[in-house]
Amino acid sequence: MNKGRVYIISGPSGSGKDTVLKEIFKVMPEIKFSISSITRDMRSGEVEGEKYNFITRERFEQMLADDELLEHNLFLGNYYGTPKAPVINCVENGQDIFIEVDVNGAAQIRQKMPDAVSVFIMPPSLEVLKARLCGRGTDSDEIIEKRLNEALREISRAPEYDYVVVNDNLQTAINNIVSIMSVDKFKTDRNLNLINQVLSK
Ligand code: 5GP
Repeated sequence: MNKGRVYIISGPSGSGKDTVLKEIFKVMPEIKFSISSITRDMRSGEVEGEKYNFITRERFEQMLADDELLEHNLFLGNYYGTPKAPVINCVENGQDIFIEVDVNGAAQIRQKMPDAVSVFIMPPSLEVLKARLCGRGTDSDEIIEKRLNEALREISRAPEYDYVVVNDNLQTAINNIVSIMSVDKFKTDRNLNLINQVLSK
C-alpha cells in the first residue's frame, strides 16, 4: 500500500482558509483532518473536538514533555500543537491528511516529514485581509491589530511553501487546491509500489 500524503495548510487569520477547508471536505470527505490541541479559550460557535481540542496549559506541557506532538507553536500567548499519533496512523494506512498550522509549525513538520506537501492560502490584498478581520466581530481592536501584524509576518514566509493559492474567489481557491492534490497523485514517490509491482512480474 502506498503511504498517505500529509498536506500542510497555512494562511494568516482572515485568509479564509477555514472556509476553503470546510468546502474541500465536502467534495473530498475521505480526507482526514488533524485536530490540534490548543490552550486558547473557545470562541462562540466552536465545537470541542471538531477543529480543536481545548486543553489546559498543564495538559499541553505534559504532552510536550511526553513527546506526543509533531509540532507546536506559541501564538498570541496560547499554545497550539499537532498530536503526532493520529498523523502517523493516517499516513501508514494510506490516507491523506490535512494539517492546518502556522508558518512555524509548517517548518517543523517539513523538517520531520520532507515528503509533506505545503500550501499557503493568501488573501488577495491587505485591504481584503483587514476587512475580513474586522468583519468577524469576535476580536477587540487590539487583537485585530496583533493579528494583522502576525498576518504580514506569515505572508513574508509564504515562499517557504510548495504552492500558493489566492483566496479571492472561494470556488476558484477550492478548485486550485483540488488540482494540486490531483497532480500529486502522479508524483513518483506515490507510485513506487506500482512500479515495483510491474517490475516484479
Ligand atoms: P486561531 O486562534 O485563529 O484559530 O488560530 C491561530 C493560528 O494558529 C492560525 O494561524 C492557525 O493556522 C494556527 N494553528 C491552528 N492549529 C495549529 C497547530 O496545531 N499548530 C500550529 N503551529 N498552529 C496552529
